[in-house]
Amino acid sequence: MITSVEPERVRVLNDATVRTRDYVLYWMQSSHRTEENPALRYAVERGDQAHLPLVVYFGLWQTYPEANLRHFRFMLEGLAEVARSLESLGIRFILRIEPPDKGVLDLATNAALLIVDRGYLRQQQLLYRHVAERCPCSLVQVEGNVVVPVEAASQKEEYSAATFRRKVTYHVDRFLHPFNTGSPERSSLGLDLPTLAGETTDALLSQLTIDRSVLPSALYKGGTAEANRRYEQFLDNRLGGYADNRNDPGGDGGSDMSPYLHFGQVSPVTLAVLAQEQGGNGTPAFLEQLIVRRELAVNFVRYNGNYDSFSSLPTWAQKTLALHHADPREYGYSLNELEHAATHDPYWNAAQKEMMKTGKMQGYMRMYWGKKVLEWSKTPEDAYPAALYLNNKYEIDGRDPNGYAGVAWCFGKHDHPWGERPIFGMVRYMNAKGLTRKFEMDQYLENVRQGR
Ligand SMILES: Cc1cc2nc3c(=O)[nH]c(=O)nc-3n(C[C@H](O)[C@H](O)[C@H](O)COP(=O)(O)OP(=O)(O)OC[C@H]3O[C@@H](n4cnc5c(N)ncnc54)[C@H](O)[C@@H]3O)c2cc1C
Repeated sequence: MITSVEPERVRVLNDATVRTRDYVLYWMQSSHRTEENPALRYAVERGDQAHLPLVVYFGLWQTYPEANLRHFRFMLEGLAEVARSLESLGIRFILRIEPPDKGVLDLATNAALLIVDRGYLRQQQLLYRHVAERCPCSLVQVEGNVVVPVEAASQKEEYSAATFRRKVTYHVDRFLHPFNTGSPERSSLGLDLPTLAGETTDALLSQLTIDRSVLPSALYKGGTAEANRRYEQFLDNRLGGYADNRNDPGGDGGSDMSPYLHFGQVSPVTLAVLAQEQGGNGTPAFLEQLIVRRELAVNFVRYNGNYDSFSSLPTWAQKTLALHHADPREYGYSLNELEHAATHDPYWNAAQKEMMKTGKMQGYMRMYWGKKVLEWSKTPEDAYPAALYLNNKYEIDGRDPNGYAGVAWCFGKHDHPWGERPIFGMVRYMNAKGLTRKFEMDQYLENVRQGR
């Protein structure tokens, strides 16, 4: 079937056929938005071609790995907006509290065709496979949370940004096309399919049996409108100076888009197109992070089945860390001490507190933070899961390819060997002196104290 979505974004996941049934079904799983969502666009076009209404489904999975109240609130704030937006397009939104594979298979009984968007983590792959094996109709996946589809960019795990950059940038222009999704020909609002979509975020949250130990962020509200508002401010005030300011922990140089990108509440294509239109000195540096670094992380998770463990590291990094396994540590902290920000280092403690309070640690501090978890843990093998645990528990953007690649980078992934030193071996080292030499760190401490 011909649609306006680039063919590289589309793949068929099972052998079943398109049938004559009641509706086309879009299972929204990782792209929580109606703006510039290629899976939604594809679903609208396929529905129109078959003269069938389109139904969108979202299953609220209470036991999603490592998800807690902070993540659920942010996500539900976004889904409330999706519900309103779909209604304005004449599309029925079925939101239910249930394992999504079960819910989508129930609805697929009457579907002519099932469409799903694409995430890359293990739990998402398992879900897609489970549904593909049981789905009675054709299941098509549309990849919309990257600029360049992961297999189009590269067919293998890339060694570093240096090897990946040329490959991905070769394709970028072809995929940087903004578009609008119009209403389907046939409304599905009249279909009698039970949904919780009209309920408030608070009402939905109160029905969930989830980990409530991490409070929602007072600083970051979820949803596409909030992402757009923040991004506009970034374009107006900060993109120009991005190359110089993005690393400064005490400054405000970043776009703060990572929580919104993580839930697919905003499209990386939209962000890249707007940054390109604006132009200026900061744009190349910003696109380097948004496309090259972010999609290198997707490449890592896509091609390295051990992306969440120490064994994902390159051989040189594993070897050098093993050689320094038993090196004496000047400071040693348990996971509990790290979690409670109880180290001797005020900058590290501030970074940990920033993440715990706001749900988003400043980018440069994430590197310093991860390096110190490696330095102060008993062994690198203890440090690796500790860093992932804390990152995924407190960051709104945690449980993301970027988080797995970010932690791996602290242990040598996507980097090259440096001079040999204790504990780190040839893995790159960072220290507090470097922070104070380069940045106004008192300002960072003050920002964290004030909850900014
Ligand atoms: C130890 C560690 C853990 C990390 N954990 C996460 C995580 O859980 N989730 C997450 O999204 N990012 C993570 N990062 C990557 C990066 O720090 C954040 O994406 C960035 O700080 C988000 O802030 P921003 O949106 O203001 O970024 P900006 O500077 O405005 O960059 C724009 C976008 O580019 C991407 N980007 C920026 N820096 C990187 C990078 N180093 N690697 C890959 N993509 C990047 C992000 O999608 C970001 O939103 C981690 C990095 C490290 C070193």
